[in-house]
Amino acid sequence: MATELHETICMAKQEKHKNLFLNYKNLNNFPVELLKDEGLQFLERLYMKRNSLTTLPDNLAQKLPNLIELYLHSNNIVIIPEAIGNLARLQSLDLSNNALQMLCPEIGRLRSLRHLRLSNNQLKCLPSEIGDLQELETLDVSMNQLIALPEKLHHCLSLQNLTADHNHLRHVPRQLCWLHRLNQLSMAANRLNFLPLDLGRSRELQFVFVDHNSDLKGLPSYLYNKVIGCSGCGVSSQVQEEGANDTLGALPAEVKIVGSRSSTVVPLEELALRTLHRVYHHRLSDLHLLPNITLPKTLLDLLQFPLGHCHRCSQAMFTIIYPKLFPLRDTALAGVHRRTTVSFVAYCCSSPCLRTFDLQG
Ligand SMILES: [Zn+2]
Repeated sequence: MATELHETICMAKQEKHKNLFLNYKNLNNFPVELLKDEGLQFLERLYMKRNSLTTLPDNLAQKLPNLIELYLHSNNIVIIPEAIGNLARLQSLDLSNNALQMLCPEIGRLRSLRHLRLSNNQLKCLPSEIGDLQELETLDVSMNQLIALPEKLHHCLSLQNLTADHNHLRHVPRQLCWLHRLNQLSMAANRLNFLPLDLGRSRELQFVFVDHNSDLKGLPSYLYNKVIGCSGCGVSSQVQEEGANDTLGALPAEVKIVGSRSSTVVPLEELALRTLHRVYHHRLSDLHLLPNITLPKTLLDLLQFPLGHCHRCSQAMFTIIYPKLFPLRDTALAGVHRRTTVSFVAYCCSSPCLRTFDLQG
């Protein structure tokens, strides 16, 4: 086997191969032949799945400087060296089915990276530097032990496909609704009990899978016309369907008042925030008319990421919502979701919007 491996690598080196297949070779260590002398300067794709590697060499980027795709699926890799960040041309990195417990922040230096697969490891958190990956299109972190997604994930403006099934996630960061290229979001089998009000507002988002989140009772009605997976959701609410709060599940902490059809007056605090938001987002040219007041950063953040937008009129909302429930059993989707008890929820900005909103409309 050792001789065969040696020959394969030597031939790849002499003939300047771009692809090298070293899958199923029983490798415990990274082959030294790959790292000798000047390495393999022409290699672009390295396939090393189903071996027994436990780490990667520090000089990988020096010896394989033109690597574009690196496949390390099904090894025993526990740690990735910081030097991984030097693989400047790397576009695809597959580390699925390994033993990773942490990922170094240097991963954020892989500025060409488009596909990152980390499923089936033992990751409890991810570095916020993942947010530096501006080209990232696919991120698969399913089957780990994550309690939260990376803080700056919404900076990955190219993200199209996010898969985070089978983790311990409690919420979908609201800012992900602003990822305009996101097409598929999969967060099945987590601990979600609430979805951001704006989820599905982006036309690009077409596939949302949140199956087996037993505490998830309400789906934003923006998802009504998308492909959704929600079987096994809302199972813990079967006994108590009465009471809007209960059916909605948990709402974010900043929602102080949940409006109802009868509350016709919008609270002053909410009106003030809506006015400020209009000034900041729609009438920037009018800013010079305002007195020169510096707003606190927390308030500016809030203005940048409202709680959600009215499903009827698109008005931004900050501290209140007027919810309206459409049990899934009353919709055309009921047939495909027979085992679920979740409802679609329209979130409106005022009682007039609440009265006039209809799912079909
Ligand atoms: Zn409205």
